[in-house]
Amino acid sequence: MRLVFLGPPGAGKGTQAAKLANYLGVPRISTGDILRRNVSEGTELGKKAKGFMDAGTLVPDDLVIAMTETRIRESDAKRGFILDGFPRTIAQANALASLTPLDAVVTLFMEHEELIKRSTGRRVCPKCEALYHVLTNPPRKPDVCDRCGSRLIVREDDREDVVRTRIDTYEERTAPLIKYYRDRGLLREVYAGGLIDEVFLRVLDALRV
Ligand code: AMP
Repeated sequence: MRLVFLGPPGAGKGTQAAKLANYLGVPRISTGDILRRNVSEGTELGKKAKGFMDAGTLVPDDLVIAMTETRIRESDAKRGFILDGFPRTIAQANALASLTPLDAVVTLFMEHEELIKRSTGRRVCPKCEALYHVLTNPPRKPDVCDRCGSRLIVREDDREDVVRTRIDTYEERTAPLIKYYRDRGLLREVYAGGLIDEVFLRVLDALRV
């Protein structure tokens, strides 16, 4: 299946996309993860992207589109993929449409104050990119990754002021994609409140898989 996950920061997009990718046996392609890897490796792309990411605004379309095109063309994405965090603008959606057909677009929605609580409790593993939450999905040992034992970190852009900017950016630039995909008959809307497994069942139900 070729799927896109849309949703504001804190809705659990990354977590649900990872669970579904595992369930379907297709790669999860997270543009945020690819960009963060470029930033930590100090690549040209990373240097260009860092300022936008730290501020909670979008990296320019041409950079993200080229990067995602390259990733989708890799052999593991031939059988399908889940795009997590792309597209985020109409220009990106048009570029994607000219590259590949899609089976569905899942959009997660939730109250804004809840989004802020969720984002600020998030912890990530800087090494294997596993995701945790201090309240809803804590690691077995505080601040230590269950999978690889690395010390967990708070993402720079999960600070409350940056989260608020990211939500505003989502409303302004990405929310128009909801209508875009509804008009094309691809949209599946899923309420993102509650426990991870509850949301996952709603996702499976919405996709009928
Ligand atoms: P995420 O991990 O998906 O929340 O992405 C983290 C940050 O990476 C975002 O706040 C943006 O600055 C940047 N980013 C990720 N995906 C995109 C995209 N499709 N278009 C533009 N910027 C992006």
